[in-house]
Amino acid sequence: MKSKKNFEIKLEEHFLAGAPAIYIQSAEEARVDQLLIRLQDKLGLKRIHEWNLGHGWVDFDNKRPLSNLESGKTELEHALLALLDADLEQSLILIKGARLALEHNTLAIARLKQLLNLIERHHAGECSVILVSEAVCIPAPIEAQVSLLTLPLPDREEIKALLAQAAASGQLTVPENLNDQVVSGLSGLTVSEIAQLLRMMGRQAATMDACALKTILHEKEQIIAKSGVLEMVPSVVELDDIGGLENLKHWLEQRSTIIRRLDEATKRGVKAPKGVLIAGMPGCGKSLTAKVAASLFQLPLLRLDIGSLLGKYVGESEHNMRRALSMAETVSPCILWVDELEKAFVGMGGGNASEVTARLLGYFLTWMQEKTGAVFVIATANDISALPPELLRKGRFDEIFYVGFPNAVEREKILSIHLGKSHQTVAELEMFKLVKLCRDYCGADIENAVNEALANAFINGSALTQKLLEDAIQSTIPLRETLRDQVGKYEELFEKLKLRPASEYQGLSVAQMIKMAADPNHVKREEVASNPDCPDDQLEKLAMDSQRTVIKAVYENPRCPERLLSIRINILQSNPQYDLELLELACLNGNAPEDLLIRQINDGTLAKELRAKLASLAKGTNLQQKLAADSDALVRQGLASNRALPEQVLEKFVLDDDADVRRAVGGNLILPESLQFKLAVDDNISVVAALVSNPSLGANVKLQLLEKGASKIKQAFARRPELTVAEQQMLLKNADNPLKLVLAAHPKLAEAIQVQLASDSSYKVRISLAKNLQVTSEVQKTLASDTNADVKIALLGNPALCLSEEAKLKLAKFKIENNSPAARMLNMQRNSGLFGNIAATLYSTEN
Ligand code: ATP
Repeated sequence: MKSKKNFEIKLEEHFLAGAPAIYIQSAEEARVDQLLIRLQDKLGLKRIHEWNLGHGWVDFDNKRPLSNLESGKTELEHALLALLDADLEQSLILIKGARLALEHNTLAIARLKQLLNLIERHHAGECSVILVSEAVCIPAPIEAQVSLLTLPLPDREEIKALLAQAAASGQLTVPENLNDQVVSGLSGLTVSEIAQLLRMMGRQAATMDACALKTILHEKEQIIAKSGVLEMVPSVVELDDIGGLENLKHWLEQRSTIIRRLDEATKRGVKAPKGVLIAGMPGCGKSLTAKVAASLFQLPLLRLDIGSLLGKYVGESEHNMRRALSMAETVSPCILWVDELEKAFVGMGGGNASEVTARLLGYFLTWMQEKTGAVFVIATANDISALPPELLRKGRFDEIFYVGFPNAVEREKILSIHLGKSHQTVAELEMFKLVKLCRDYCGADIENAVNEALANAFINGSALTQKLLEDAIQSTIPLRETLRDQVGKYEELFEKLKLRPASEYQGLSVAQMIKMAADPNHVKREEVASNPDCPDDQLEKLAMDSQRTVIKAVYENPRCPERLLSIRINILQSNPQYDLELLELACLNGNAPEDLLIRQINDGTLAKELRAKLASLAKGTNLQQKLAADSDALVRQGLASNRALPEQVLEKFVLDDDADVRRAVGGNLILPESLQFKLAVDDNISVVAALVSNPSLGANVKLQLLEKGASKIKQAFARRPELTVAEQQMLLKNADNPLKLVLAAHPKLAEAIQVQLASDSSYKVRISLAKNLQVTSEVQKTLASDTNADVKIALLGNPALCLSEEAKLKLAKFKIENNSPAARMLNMQRNSGLFGNIAATLYSTEN
């Protein structure tokens, strides 16, 4: 009840200080009556004279009209005359509906001024005029004599008291567990609105339940909407419903941690987040973000339409703003979404700031600065140029984000989100094409195109197809197109103001790219030439650049337009512009038209090396077929490694006469297991070895090769980076020394295999093992006491050696003693068995 108490104290103070008039800004006349009765009791005032618009003077207690002047005129200007002879000692003169009564009423204002002068001279501190109205309107002649007090909406304590009253009168009981939620639900409403709602609830059931709580929230939405300045927006969207805008999303997630645990955070000295300004292009997800924030913060979302604040009466706009902000404070914790913020400040930039907008801005800024309640502000604006610089200054908002047109990665995400809503997916390859087609589209354009395609699919009675999507995208006129001039202006301003981009990879804006394409520095031109979002006209310009690296970047750009590529591919060898390197880049670009490439192959204009490279990348089936029939093995070899080949072409290559071609197909990741079996029995061992190295080797083919493969094949197998323990064991069974050597060096050698190899009869195998970084400390210990000096020396060189310091020292000493030329000779002889037992004896006595 702190707010009401504060108000009562202030009212009393102003009265006792001799204020001739006190203007109470409130629509709650009954509540004002209660306050005045308490003041009367406390100060022992004799009476309260009440005047209202309907009846003129009335009895304050029963509101019955009193006999007014003989003329019967009830208007304020006449009614005031009656007070000239009245006893004003220890009294209050209450004037309800003050704004309407005084506005444009010079006579009433003049007579009121006379009355105030009278009070000031003879009754200061024992009489005051109390003016009551929802909107503030203090006429200039009396401004100095009037104190303004705004009656706040009831706080939580007052609401609890109202609930207690309702329970005591048997009207309605609120169970303990719902109490807090009911109080929150009723926050933001006036006393009479609350009383009315409680009466309504009480008539439905004597005890409130969760269902009734919903009704309260619904009714509250209506009441808030009726106020005309705020609207409660239900939010069902979540963070994943926004495609891209990663920086903004991440920032909001972090704030949500504070807001959700605000009490705890405040105790630890963390300031409550104030809010965020999201400026930028229309249709790019600003409103969507405000809604998502409400779900994320788990708070109600109140939308303030700035346009609707601007009233036609003097002081109305400020009054509306004040009412909206105080309503938001009483509903807090909540999110106040100030939509189209710039509308409040139209006309401010040019220096002809109207008084109203300047006052609105001032009020809003002070409120932002001083607000203590947990109201998180999300302001959104399209036209940042209309916003006053004071608002953009750091400190007003916690952060200002700029939302631009989505980049390629974001467009893909937005497409997936909207296709996902109708449970549709499009293959990756096709998605790439769609993303490319909707360059320059905002999120709303993309959503519209998807909806259009879905509607057309429904009308046709067909499933959603790539073609329908492409048609819908192409028939949508993007916002960027319609707002071309504005977009350029916004983008420039965004650059200038250095606002924080909402997207993780903001990329370059079109305005920036155009500027960079004309930059004298070729590095800048090269950067823009390789940017996948570079507009086609700029790429065409850059294709004629004086710098070769820039031209190359154009043809390498995955979004290089087909037209440009065709021109380059069509240049004949006899033409001075012919350039083999650029031709190669143009042919290898994924956008190069297939029919043109086939024609060039038919004409014999493409060298076999270029055909081979093309073959390894070709995606179109016609081009693949053409290259599959190429007489040159190098070309077929290239094609055999292509990862977009149909199975019948792969099969053709498995049976190709040329071993190089079969080798290439053996290593192809997409080779199916049925064809792997065919290659596993190839006569040419290098072909089988290539197959064995293929990471997508099938389990059954592996088994066959492990069981029946020749030693060379098994060696290739032992080089596979991934080897299971079972495979290692199979390889070790009946392994010859070359195979054991390869196996001992495997980076994922199992401990059981290490133990077996540590006691292998071949010292070369043991050396290979001693060098293996994977060898366990136990096996290292075994190898440290190996009978062979080279094994010990190899072990000492192993960077992963993890023996005790003492053991390492012993090995180091051993190396010094045994690495001399004489010792090495002896060692070699002993290894080759030349001196047999004699050398061995000598060796052992030496140690
Ligand atoms: P305006 O300034 O015109 O109000 P806005 O920036 O507030 O535009 P939104 O109203 O949020 O744009 O976007 C319109 C619709 O477009 C959204 O409801 C949403 O469906 C879709 N949309 C826009 N941006 C995105 C996005 N990044 N991810 C997913 N959908 C989006």
